[in-house]
Amino acid sequence: MKKKIIAANFKMNKTNRDIEEYFNTFVNNMNEFKGKGLFENIGLNSEAVFATPCTSLCESYKIIKPYGDFIKLSAQDIYFEKNGAYTGEISIDMIKDCGCEYAIVGHSERRRIFNETDETIAKKMSAVYSSEGVTPILCVGENKEVREKDMQYDFVKKQLKTDLEPLKTKSGKVYSLIIAYEPVWAIGTDLPIRPEDGDKMHRFIYDYVRSNYEVDELRIIYGGSVKESNIKELMDEPYINGVLVGGASLDPSVFLNIVRLSNA
Ligand code: PEP
Repeated sequence: MKKKIIAANFKMNKTNRDIEEYFNTFVNNMNEFKGKGLFENIGLNSEAVFATPCTSLCESYKIIKPYGDFIKLSAQDIYFEKNGAYTGEISIDMIKDCGCEYAIVGHSERRRIFNETDETIAKKMSAVYSSEGVTPILCVGENKEVREKDMQYDFVKKQLKTDLEPLKTKSGKVYSLIIAYEPVWAIGTDLPIRPEDGDKMHRFIYDYVRSNYEVDELRIIYGGSVKESNIKELMDEPYINGVLVGGASLDPSVFLNIVRLSNA
């Protein structure tokens, strides 16, 4: 069975001290849920993935290691070069060193605020796949204007075509891929997609990827104003294999409840 991915993106929030407090609360609450029989098998069915700021990845790893089957770490971004004169950037080997098994690539905030292009994103995907042991969480999704023109399918297909170019290189390698469909108009707006519309896009992405690339394990997760109140209806859709949560992941009790409800 494909494990569901319930991922938290902390963005530029939380110091090391905040994160230590966060994980202590998360783990205590998790044990409390377990004590009440509310958390059985969740670790078998899903993974809680935390994209903390890069300054906290190594510290986070020390805390979450005992729960490593269920709690995983992700980088929020990586640079495509292995090392060198790239001030401010971090490489794939550096995030592996801190225990990351995932890396977010192409988040819409990187595209919009830092002018990241699909060509750059393709290089980052290539860097992830040139190394073993890290699965990319590739973010795609249209903005409001595109959705209003009903052009979202063409738009996402165009993003995928360039971003996934590295998968065309047949290398005999096993590729594991997570795509986060994150419509930009739904991020941080309290305007989540209707679950059936999300499912339709996920199915479109699934069919496109399956018919054009050889991917061994493919999961498509949804991001954009996910909360305790809408997680269940989203997860009830057949093509939604998990979620990427921004704002609502910053409170450990809320996020743990989202993880629990995603399995309810
Ligand atoms: C995000 O930025 O990836 C995100 C999904 O944010 P939010 O949950 O706050 O909409």
